[in-house]
Amino acid sequence: MCAIEAGKRGRRVAVLEHADRLGKKILISGGGRCNFTNLHCQPENFLSANPHFAKSALARYTPADFIALVEKHRIPYHEKTLGQLFCDGSAREIVTMLEEECRVAKVDIILNAKVRELRRTSEFVLTTEAQAFHAPALVVATGGISITKIGASSFGYDLARQFGLNIREPRPALVPLLFGSQDRSRYSDLSGVSAEVIASCDGEQFREKMLFTHRGLSGPAILQISSYWQKPRAIIIDLAPDHEVAAVFSDPSIPRNPSSLRAELRKILPARLADRWLELHEPTSWTNPALADFERQLHAWEIQPAGTEGFEKAEVTAGGVDTDELSAKTMESREVPGLYFIGEVLDVTGHLGGFNFQWAWASGAAAGRAL
Ligand SMILES: Cc1cc2nc3c(=O)[nH]c(=O)nc-3n(C[C@H](O)[C@H](O)[C@H](O)COP(=O)(O)OP(=O)(O)OC[C@H]3O[C@@H](n4cnc5c(N)ncnc54)[C@H](O)[C@@H]3O)c2cc1C
Repeated sequence: MCAIEAGKRGRRVAVLEHADRLGKKILISGGGRCNFTNLHCQPENFLSANPHFAKSALARYTPADFIALVEKHRIPYHEKTLGQLFCDGSAREIVTMLEEECRVAKVDIILNAKVRELRRTSEFVLTTEAQAFHAPALVVATGGISITKIGASSFGYDLARQFGLNIREPRPALVPLLFGSQDRSRYSDLSGVSAEVIASCDGEQFREKMLFTHRGLSGPAILQISSYWQKPRAIIIDLAPDHEVAAVFSDPSIPRNPSSLRAELRKILPARLADRWLELHEPTSWTNPALADFERQLHAWEIQPAGTEGFEKAEVTAGGVDTDELSAKTMESREVPGLYFIGEVLDVTGHLGGFNFQWAWASGAAAGRAL
């Protein structure tokens, strides 16, 4: 996106990509259909040590701008849920669109370009195994460190450090969480069961699906809240949002016993989860206070995750190049003129749902218009 915007303004641009093709993360994104933006994109959908940093770029390149590009290329798309836009066909169409825009903007794309060394004299001098590049400006768009097997690297952070820029500790985000040993023995055989829940942590909450895995919890609600979780915080899960299960017992004709409660729970939760929950949390008695206690636990299941599935399973990397080091308007380093950082390598992390791509497009456009 940055190369396209700069190329359109007549700049000579070379994109150096160390993989053998462009946009591998786009290709695997959104289950192969690329959730390329979100209609409801707001600065509140991003985590950063400076929550104001992303505002300017997001306001100047909006979801409507990217949708216009997608429509110009006649790529069919649909809204899946919650403003999330996906290709009807394949994520490949988005990569092809960007390649085509690069071609029109006369951008040189150099694949298999492994950068060996970067020096700064009166300009930037980048050396790959095959050649040297001299440029007055350098844009680092190397992404986060999630999923190294498709080309992710810590190169962007190393480069930032080389120039004395601060890095906010990178950590896996949008990532499944692992049970502690006790919860694992209690729940791991529920693997595959899912339910709509509200997951909360650190003052944030998400109402979406949660999925049991054989090692812990996943699904959109958990991925979202994982970005806010850090050891030793707890995650609180409301397993029955908007429901009051024990309310059924205000009817005196309903017997107060496990089978009535099981029947009520099964109306809200998948049967396997309902049964397991009751097995582990059966009311201590059938009095109103004991039932109120059962109800409270159902809406506030406290999980102390042992950790996350790590960078190999994380959809994004939170943390990264400290935004205090950069201009929010242009993404240029304050201390090193001509050096820019865009996209996921920065300490700006989107929620699940197309926000990370929108940040990549918007920050890329901001730099591309300033080069
Ligand atoms: C499985 C998965 C699914 C996802 N799905 C979605 C989704 O549907 N919607 C969404 O909004 N976000 C999604 N994301 C997140 C999104 O893909 C990223 O946030 C986004 O791609 C970041 O863009 P970027 O340009 O900053 O970095 P990247 O897309 O990671 O691009 C960085 C590029 O730099 C190259 N590179 C790295 N190091 C070097 C080096 N040393 N030399 C040369 N080149 C280098 C890499 O090969 C790569 O091509 C998903 C992520 C994953 C892992």
